Amino acid sequence: MESQGRCEPLRVAIRSNPAVPSRSLQRVSASAPEPTAPSSATELLQRLIRFNTVNPPGDEREAQEFLAGLLEDAGFEVTLVGNTPGRPNLVAELAATGDGDGPGTPGGPILGLLSHVDTVLAAAEDWQHDPWSGDLEDGEIWGRGAIDMKSQTAAEVTAAIDLARSGWRPARGSLKVIVVVDEEVGGGEGAIWLCENHPELARCDLMLNEGGGAPLRFRDALHYGVCVGEKGPLRFALKASGRAAHAATPRLGDNALVRLAPLITRLAEAELPFDVDPAIVAMLDGLGLDGRDPAGAYGQLREENPALSAAIEPMGRITFSPNIVSAGDKINVIPDRAELRVDCRVPPNLTTDQAKERILAALAPLPDGVEVEWGMTVPGNASPAHGELFDALQEWLGEHVPGAGIVPTFLPGFTDSRTWRTAFPDCVAYGFFPHKNLELREQAGRMHAKDERIDVEDLDFATACFRDVTRRILG
Ligand SMILES: [Zn+2]
Repeated sequence: MESQGRCEPLRVAIRSNPAVPSRSLQRVSASAPEPTAPSSATELLQRLIRFNTVNPPGDEREAQEFLAGLLEDAGFEVTLVGNTPGRPNLVAELAATGDGDGPGTPGGPILGLLSHVDTVLAAAEDWQHDPWSGDLEDGEIWGRGAIDMKSQTAAEVTAAIDLARSGWRPARGSLKVIVVVDEEVGGGEGAIWLCENHPELARCDLMLNEGGGAPLRFRDALHYGVCVGEKGPLRFALKASGRAAHAATPRLGDNALVRLAPLITRLAEAELPFDVDPAIVAMLDGLGLDGRDPAGAYGQLREENPALSAAIEPMGRITFSPNIVSAGDKINVIPDRAELRVDCRVPPNLTTDQAKERILAALAPLPDGVEVEWGMTVPGNASPAHGELFDALQEWLGEHVPGAGIVPTFLPGFTDSRTWRTAFPDCVAYGFFPHKNLELREQAGRMHAKDERIDVEDLDFATACFRDVTRRILG
């Protein structure tokens, strides 16, 4: 994921750039200039879906130039900058001027509204609507990216443009709309490249990104999760060695694959200790469970609502998934080497050393001839589950969904938020896109799946949230 080089940032006069080579988009008509600016988040999302930005290869340039044009017309200072010409990242800024009296100073926080515009692939033949149609039917917008995450791009950009067009300017600090490329395959051309090569453009104090906001229902109450942290992958391989022999005489050999068999079962059945983290305690307390006794709380959750528990339990402890095995390549030869590769995720409150200690304890006793080889490691990461951004989200929800709770959550996977937390240790980054109707289970089922679609009411709900919270933070 290391970047190969850099190109200088360019201020872009977007629509006067006919030099952009035409790409092999599946829907060529969609990449032609549109006659008018979208009038709503719905229309903007439809148009974003029509840009095929399946990654790889991504090919996000035309979508990014389209967004840049809208933001520039609304008064934002727009920069497109990327490691390769076809894949620019977008940063659009609207800063306080510092003119006038009172609170009108530039000294407030930089609030970032972050999203990525690339998507995973889609097999059109499996879908009820063309994944690049942006069709609107029965109040839902269909297409790849409708959930992950062109919907949030559309909501954030629409909120920012509506504010700017109304004449609003930050009374303090500044608003940045950041749309990156390449999130789905790691961010080497996107978040990581931008934060490493142009930290002045990327820098934010507060940030909203993907990863939370679909409400979960427990005991007939709705709880909105604000994703305050993400687990980190700590992948490892178990390598077994044995002795080759003719497969017709098994006892003359020592089968390396068989040495791994008990370890596969042990990993699949492992129940590692739950960690007492302030965010997890707050989440369990918020659900009406006893967060100071996480094992008891999770046990109760599992009994009352197994599906919700399967989604929530991984937030609180190390998990394993033994996924890839390789051993012999001849059917009549006993393999003398075998390898098991394991995906493992570590909560934010554990260091890598602490995590390795627990992993080795879970594997013990390691059979003779088996060794552990550590692989890709990204420490879990989190922002504090309190402060002005958390308060602003809580207040907004209190006004718009009376009676609903707000709870911090951890994402079992990871997003670009980790890159900002690493590059700017003081940056408070949350995953949040509040849904009015779609609950967590349905939302998770549509992500990276066929028939991805979003409720128009949910899109408008999130747009209003981004607009109102921006005003609350920046004045
Ligand atoms: Zn995403």
